[in-house]
Order: sequence, then C-alpha cells, then structure tokens
Amino acid sequence: MGYFYAHLFSAEPEISAMFPADMHTQRQRLYAALRQIAAMPPEMVSGTADDDDGLTAYLSALGRAHRKFGVRKDHYPAVRSALRVTADRFTPPGKDAGNQDWEAAVDRAAEIMIAAAEEDAAHAPAWWTAEVTGHQLRTPQVAVLTVQPSEPFPYLAGQHLSVQTPRWPRLWRNYSIANAPRPDGSLTLHVRAIAGGLVSTTLVHHLRTGDILLLGRAEGQMTADTESQRPVLCLAGGTGLAPLKAIAEAVTGTRQRRDIVLYHGARTESELYDLPALRQMELDFPWLQVIPATSQERAGGTRHGAIPLLAAHADWKDREVYVSGPDQMIVETVAALRALGVPAGLLHYDLPDEPLP
Ligand SMILES: Cc1cc2nc3c(=O)[nH]c(=O)nc-3n(C[C@H](O)[C@H](O)[C@H](O)COP(=O)(O)OP(=O)(O)OC[C@H]3O[C@@H](n4cnc5c(N)ncnc54)[C@H](O)[C@@H]3O)c2cc1C
Repeated sequence: MGYFYAHLFSAEPEISAMFPADMHTQRQRLYAALRQIAAMPPEMVSGTADDDDGLTAYLSALGRAHRKFGVRKDHYPAVRSALRVTADRFTPPGKDAGNQDWEAAVDRAAEIMIAAAEEDAAHAPAWWTAEVTGHQLRTPQVAVLTVQPSEPFPYLAGQHLSVQTPRWPRLWRNYSIANAPRPDGSLTLHVRAIAGGLVSTTLVHHLRTGDILLLGRAEGQMTADTESQRPVLCLAGGTGLAPLKAIAEAVTGTRQRRDIVLYHGARTESELYDLPALRQMELDFPWLQVIPATSQERAGGTRHGAIPLLAAHADWKDREVYVSGPDQMIVETVAALRALGVPAGLLHYDLPDEPLP
C-alpha cells in the first residue's frame, strides 16, 4: 500500500493533499477495500448480478464517503494506474499480474463508487459544518458534546457520522450519534479520549462551545426498527451507549408501549458517565429499564460482570437485540447470544470492516 500511495502521490500531487500525514490507517483501509473488490464475483463485474452479497452497497457507501475528501471522477484513472504499477511490482515471478478480470473488477468498482457519489451530490453536501453548543466532561476521559449542524443533517437513530477538527486537518474519525433526530437538528456525541489518540483527545480536552467541526454523512446499518412490535434489549459497553441511547429514544418516541431493557456496562462505577440522564429517561418512560453494570468492581445498584456474560442471563427471548461497544465486546456478545439460539435476524450490530477513511 505504501508503494501504491507513493506512485499515486507523485503522479497526482493534488490527491496527496487530501490525505493526512500519517497514512497508516488509510493504508489498512484501502487494503481492506481492495480485498473486497478482489472478491467480486464475475457476474457483478459484468454488471449482470442480481445478488451481489452487499458489494454494491459497500462500494456505493465508499463512493459517497469519499466525497468529503474532495475526490472527483477524474481522480479515478490515476488510482487505477497506480494500482496497475503496484500489482506489476508485487506479483511473484511466473504469476499473471495482468489479469483482465481483476482490472475489470477495479473498473466496475470505480463505476459504482462514481455513480453513488454523483447521485449523492444531487441532494446532499459533501460535508456539513457544525457549531459546538455544549461540552460536558463527564469523567476525566469522556465528554458529551452537542453540536448544531448549519444545514439539516439526515440520519437514522443508531447511525454514526465522521468528524474532523480544525486541529487535525484531513483526519476523520467516526462517532455515534447519541440521540434520535430532534426538531432542532442538534446532535449529541459521546467521546472517549484514547491515550495518544489525536481526534478523540482534541474533542474531549480541547474543544470549547462555539468551535466549529466538520461532519461527514451518517453511515451504519444498525438502526432502530420502529415498525417491529417486539420488545427491545440494548447491550452497551462504554461509549457504545451512544447509538443505543438513540435507538431507545427512537423506540420510546413512537409512543408504543414496547418494553426496553438497556444495559450499560463499564469497568468501574465512575465510568458510568450517563447514569443520571438514563435514570431520567427511565422516569419519563416507565416501560424502559436501565441496568448499569461494572466488570472490574462491585458497586451498589449495579450488576457485576462484563456485558457478554450478562447478555446470556438477560431477557433476550423474542426481543430485538442491539449490541454496541468495543469490537471485542460486540463479537463476544453476539457469539454468546447466537450460541443460546437468538435468531440472526433479531441481532443488530455494526462491526467496522474499515471501509471508510
Ligand atoms: C462505527 C464507529 C463508531 C464509533 N463511535 C465512537 C463513539 O461514539 N465514541 C468514541 O469515543 N469513539 C467511537 N469510535 C472510535 C473513534 O472513531 C476513534 O477511533 C477514536 O476516537 C480514536 O481516534 P483518535 O484519532 O483519537 O485516535 P488515533 O489517533 O486514531 O489512534 C491513537 C492510538 O489509539 C489506538 N486506538 C484507536 N482507537 C482506539 C480505541 N477505541 N480503543 C483503544 N485504542 C484505540 C490506535 O490504534 C492508535 O494506536 C467509533 C468507531 C467506529 C468505527
């Protein structure tokens, strides 16, 4: 990937200006995207596939997401030729780098990405500006931010957006939106500062009300099913609470009496950064039950244990189950629930496959 980017940037210096100085994450993400493209079935390459295993959706999302970097249709040929040079350079002797199927797959992928970006450009900006209207440091590492986009920002409860701060130009990071859409359009984010983390540290420790952020479009498949009549189980770890709070809000907002149980797990009691607000939600919606849990200490009024373990003992039968938190927590929780027989169709979660820069 390093070789590829070196070629691309020397051929098209304008493209290099779109990327951050630290290319490590970007290289990993492009590699993941290329693996998906390489796995394209021939019917999809020829454009005759009916069922494409979600690849069209994946590539369309990739095309739309690239709008915020300033990527244009006329940048794609440079990417194609840098890929060609890279494939030639790294193909082992005796193997065929000039595989036409592969080139056709890259062209088809570019076609899908360009079409999706053009369709998106017809009705949505490439990014939004948003003013920070609230900033509360809830623990030494977690802040709850409220931002006000300058133009309507469409999204569904449970989705995430990407954020760029003026302090770190060209670095975009994903954060879940912690509220269902509000009449005033404001958005709440829960951000944990990661040690050495560039964007999260800025958002938690250096942001002030009145500051301006850039927002990339909302993404994510885990959204509130407000049509379902089933009761709901939400299993959140850390700031994974954010999208599940939005989903709980969306479900309670339908005014149907759908029973919701919301677990919020943290290592210690002091890390349960949103408990007063969750308790208030419980008072407002008596059919919502909040269960705080701590894994590293025992605390009064909280369950003891990690979310994957508690999930197995939760009331999951015949419920829509939403899971959000660190990747490992999601993987373990989903595995535990599947082993108990929870149908895949009732399990909702977003695991990052790193498609978006
Ligand atoms: C779909 C999605 C939704 C997300 N929602 C939220 C959210 O609501 N709230 C939130 O706080 N974060 C959320 N994240 C994580 C967020 O996008 C960033 O990865 C995180 O804030 C770190 O960014 P950074 O720029 O501060 O760190 P970087 O500068 O990217 O990383 C610094 C170092 O920390 C490591 N690192 C990065 N992320 C983590 C992590 N989560 N835990 C431990 N080490 C890490 C990196 O490997 C690197 O070594 C979400 C991520 C995804 C993919």
